[in-house]
Amino acid sequence: MTETDFRDWERQLSSANACSHPIRLRGRITAIDLATGESATAYTTDTEPGRVLHVACGNRRESACPACSVTYKRDARQLVRSGLVGGKGIPETVAEHPCIFATFTAPSFGPVHARRERNGKVLPCRPRRDARKRVCPHGRDISCPVRHHEDDSRLGRPMCPDCYDYESAVVFNACAGDLWRRFTTYLPRQLARMMGVTQKELRSLVRLRFVKVAEYQARGVVHFHAIIRLDANTDDDSYAPPPERWTADVLADAIQAAACSASVTADVGRSGKTLLLRFGAQTDTRVIRSGTSGALTRTAVANYIAKYATKTADAPGLPSYRLRSPLELRALRCPPHSRRLIETAWTLGYKQWAHCLGYGGHFLTKSRRFSVTFGQLRTARQEHRRVQRHPDGELDPWGRIVDETTVLLTGDWHYAGSGYQASDAHALALMSAANARKTP
Ligand SMILES: [Zn+2]
Ligand SMILES: [Zn+2]
Ligand SMILES: [Zn+2]
Repeated sequence: MTETDFRDWERQLSSANACSHPIRLRGRITAIDLATGESATAYTTDTEPGRVLHVACGNRRESACPACSVTYKRDARQLVRSGLVGGKGIPETVAEHPCIFATFTAPSFGPVHARRERNGKVLPCRPRRDARKRVCPHGRDISCPVRHHEDDSRLGRPMCPDCYDYESAVVFNACAGDLWRRFTTYLPRQLARMMGVTQKELRSLVRLRFVKVAEYQARGVVHFHAIIRLDANTDDDSYAPPPERWTADVLADAIQAAACSASVTADVGRSGKTLLLRFGAQTDTRVIRSGTSGALTRTAVANYIAKYATKTADAPGLPSYRLRSPLELRALRCPPHSRRLIETAWTLGYKQWAHCLGYGGHFLTKSRRFSVTFGQLRTARQEHRRVQRHPDGELDPWGRIVDETTVLLTGDWHYAGSGYQASDAHALALMSAANARKTP
C-alpha cells in the first residue's frame, strides 16, 4: 500500500475499538516537505502496543464480530432514517414526499408450516377440509391444525419434503436480484402510464429513490422489503417533493403493477428446464405517512429495515461461511430443510452461494441519492474522532497544521495477521468491556 492519507490511517487507530477480530498492520507514514524535499516519519506502528495497528474487520455478522455488527446496524438505521425523516445532510422535508413501504415475497413452492394471524388471533396452520385428511401423492398428511407459536421450529418446514419444489425455491433465490432489477425497470413505466405522461416527461419531473433489504423467510426463500420514495427531479440533485398530483397512492398502485409484471426466465442447472420466475401473488404496499400518528411511522420503518439489514446475515441454521467441498457440505449441522436447500443450490451450480441458499445478492441496496451512504457515515464518524483527538488541528512532523498542498504523505503497510495476539490482553479487556456496554 502506498500513497495513503495519513488521516485515514490515524482514524483507524480508534475505529478498531472493540472489534473482535481486527486486521493487524505494520508500517509507517512518511511525510515529505514538497518545498524542501525533506522527509520525516509522521507515524509508525513501532510505537504502538504490540507494534501493530489494529483495523476493524467491518464484519456485519453478529456471530463474527459483535462490535462491527453494531456499527453496521447503526449505520444502516441512520441511512434508512435520514431517507425517511432527514438528517445527516438530508433535509427534513423528505418526510413530506410520497413514500411507500413495500414487501415483495416469493411464490409458493409447496405447503409449509406457517403462522397466520387475523385480527390479532392466531389461526390454525393448515386446517383439514371437511374433517378429511389432506394427503399428498406420497401419502403424507399435509394438514396441520396447530396454531403455531412464533418460535415454533416447525415454521417454514414443508409438510412433505418430497412435494416441496426445492429446485424452484433455489432458482428463485438465485434470480431474486434480477427480478428486483426488472421491477425497477418497470416501475417508472407503470408510473408514467398511470400519470398519462411519457417516460421522458416522467424523468424530467420526478425521481424514484429506494432502499431495500433482503430477508429470508422461515422457509428459506428470500423476500425484499423496500422503501420507495418519489422526489422531484432537480437540476442540482437537491431534495424536493414531486408535483402535487404525484401522490403516494398512485405510487403504491404503480409498485403493485410493476411487481405483478416483473418476471425473469432462468435455467434449472443443466437439466434443460427453464423456469419463469415472478414475485408472489400479493405485493404488500403501505403508505408511510409523515408525523407520528398512524400505525406505520417513519421511525418504526427505519428500525424495522435496519433490523433486517443485520438479521439476514445470521440466518438461523445457515453456515456463516462459503462451502468449498462436498465434504464440508456433508459435515454441516443444520435443519434438514436448510440442508436440502443448500444441497440443491450446490447441485444446480450455485456452489458459491450454496451457504446463502442460492442468493448471491446484497442484503442492503439503495439507489443513488436515497440518502447518505455507508461511506459518508464512516467518514463523518472518523472526522468526528479526529477532531476530538486534535481539537486544535492536526500537526505534521515539523509542527505545522497538516496541509496536503505543502506536504506529501506516503504510507508503507504490511499485513501482519488478524485477530488479537496473546500480548494484547489489554486490548481484549477493553474490547469486552465495550461490548458489555453495548449489550442491552
Ligand atoms: Zn470487527
Ligand atoms: Zn403447521
Ligand atoms: Zn408429498
